[in-house]
Amino acid sequence: MTFSFIRPELNNLQAYTPHPGGAGVNSVETEIDRLDTNESPYDLPIALKQELAQTWLESIESNRYPDGGHLSLKAEIASYVTQSAAGNPHILPSQITVGNGSDELIRSILIATCVGGAGSILVAEPTFSMFGILAQSLGVPVIRADRSPIDMSLNLDAAKMGIRDRSDVPVRVVFMVHPNSPTGNAMIKEEVDWLRSLPRSVLVVIDEAYFEYSKMTMVGELVNHPNWIVLRTFSKALRLAAHRVGYAVGDPGLIAILEQIRLPYNLSSMSIAATHLALKHRKSLLATVAETIAERDKLFTTLSNVPNLKVWRSDANFIYARIEGVENPDAAMAELVSRLKNQGTLIRHTGGGLRISIGSPAENERTGLRIIFSMDLGEVSGQLTFES
Ligand SMILES: *Cc1c(COP(=O)(O)O)cnc(C)c1O
Repeated sequence: MTFSFIRPELNNLQAYTPHPGGAGVNSVETEIDRLDTNESPYDLPIALKQELAQTWLESIESNRYPDGGHLSLKAEIASYVTQSAAGNPHILPSQITVGNGSDELIRSILIATCVGGAGSILVAEPTFSMFGILAQSLGVPVIRADRSPIDMSLNLDAAKMGIRDRSDVPVRVVFMVHPNSPTGNAMIKEEVDWLRSLPRSVLVVIDEAYFEYSKMTMVGELVNHPNWIVLRTFSKALRLAAHRVGYAVGDPGLIAILEQIRLPYNLSSMSIAATHLALKHRKSLLATVAETIAERDKLFTTLSNVPNLKVWRSDANFIYARIEGVENPDAAMAELVSRLKNQGTLIRHTGGGLRISIGSPAENERTGLRIIFSMDLGEVSGQLTFES
């Protein structure tokens, strides 16, 4: 059934698949290693859940709308952001807006800049798929520049050409993820220099979803670049993916526009309370980051020794790899993902490669062994046929 009242471009929209590995596995009862969405492997400690439940019992009126102004939340986030950057650049609450995940903020940015034929966006493929999906859902053209297969940095010539060639629908926004998903690399100096050189007529969005792992941030440069905006999230290292909270940091005037177009009650009262809690206990919550980084480097070493698997260094909580030296790498990777799924490990086949989230030490060890085992089966299957 097609509906003639639906905008034609939505007919071939490829939506985001929340858990591609399997529907119904998103549950604590199933023994599945969920290494496909880059969440922290650790739930909130039970004492913090109890504190949150207590807040719900005592201070949240379910019949009342949430605090739609987010004033105290923005003040706390501003102070966290200030502390997070070298030199502690003084970030004001007026420089913060919060969203129902940073996904909502990406959509707000597109609404504010590009809809109605006002502009197009530029992304560096492979990258976070939501930029393209949200743009397409709003009828915003997407220009894709490629990355170097060596270090996965942006092909600057392609990016410059992409911007120059669009006089009909000018590029209004450049999205860069730092460090990038799915490839795991932080921006290099040449990329940052290019962002610095862009005219004020282009909004630069730097998505720092993995900041707590990379500890690299561009927040300190916002004061020199009113056309830059930094996105962050509570969904990854701060362990609140269930609560859907992200934030943007930028020039107060730009943030005021995003505040105007957001939905009035975009965060639930529980999400607001959970965010206050996470910020208050951030030191203990972030204590798992060091373990994740050590585990990532261990898994990197394991996977680097697997024949036909090329693995890239990562500054985030996941590893990107590709199968090489086989006849049909994409089919081989699809086959590997399916073999892993049969053994109980979910990973993501995206951006022409494999993205493996770092889980608990036990999950990572199992995953390493399962990958070695599944790749060893190569010759038998006909799919993973290696050139020998
Ligand atoms: C996970 C992720 C986000 C976070 O999205 P939320 O909507 O805040 O959960 C944003 N950007 C990138 C690149 C991500 O990988």
